[in-house]
Amino acid sequence: MPIPESDLIRRIRNQTKSRGGRLRLGVGDDCAILRPRAQEELVVTTDLSLEGTHFRLNWHTPESIGHRCLARGLSDVAAMGARPLACFLSLGLPAKTKQSWVNGFLRGLLELSERHSCPLAGGDTGESKSGVVADITVVGTVPHGKSLLRSGAKAGDTIYVTGVLGAAAAGLKSLASGAASRRSRNWIERHNWPEPRIQIGIDLREKRLARAMIDISDGLSVDLAHICEESSVGAVLNRELIPVAQNADLDLALHGGEDYELLFTAPSNAKVPVEVKGVPITEIGWITSQHGVYITDLRSKAKRLTAKGWQYFSR
Ligand SMILES: [Mg+2]
Repeated sequence: MPIPESDLIRRIRNQTKSRGGRLRLGVGDDCAILRPRAQEELVVTTDLSLEGTHFRLNWHTPESIGHRCLARGLSDVAAMGARPLACFLSLGLPAKTKQSWVNGFLRGLLELSERHSCPLAGGDTGESKSGVVADITVVGTVPHGKSLLRSGAKAGDTIYVTGVLGAAAAGLKSLASGAASRRSRNWIERHNWPEPRIQIGIDLREKRLARAMIDISDGLSVDLAHICEESSVGAVLNRELIPVAQNADLDLALHGGEDYELLFTAPSNAKVPVEVKGVPITEIGWITSQHGVYITDLRSKAKRLTAKGWQYFSR
């Protein structure tokens, strides 16, 4: 280990607010103590970030790796319409890891955790024999029975997506090619610093606008298929309406992962705003009772859309 575990814990403890509000006790005891309000239930998600699978030390800064590690968990909490409460980090580090790398990783993670009032409330560290392993657990709260599930979509619902799609995958592609142009700088930014849509998720739940929701982590085609499967419905996407990130292409928008936008369905008469806090919300299709996901330009026959996530590292 680059520094003794007790030092690392002390550092984390110094950098996080360890108690207050719904977090009764954070880092420093055998367990953290969470105190959700009466009438609230907890949502819990875990996400593994593995060197070589989710990031590379020569492509990503430690700050970005820390940020993306927590962003993945926060995005899942957002997709339930929940409010983050606390996060927990288990970190496996190779013996050769530099202290400056660990500091950068924590800086990236803690900056995001502070911004979303989701304190790091505990975790574990150990030596890894095969690359950096970061496992994040995020706990959130939601009023009883109000979580937005994947299983709520109904035939006739309209499908919406927040933000624009394809930028993160385009960013990863240009990182991989090693040829970062001025044009690709924005994409790389989006890839390195995804913004979990916490407040939009809460808004959609509170205003009862969404019926089913998921975050786009694996790609629109894959994540829409998850909603359809869980809701026992199908979907048709209107190709012309999909909000493709500037200079990215439709293929990346459909199949590129890690955009961490929200994909949701709403009754066709719901008054869904076209924008929430500067983030566009775009209608992209509709839910059908016939199973399968299709894509059309409304002029020709709808084609079956194969769900293929952008799994860059597997290629
Ligand atoms: Mg998810």
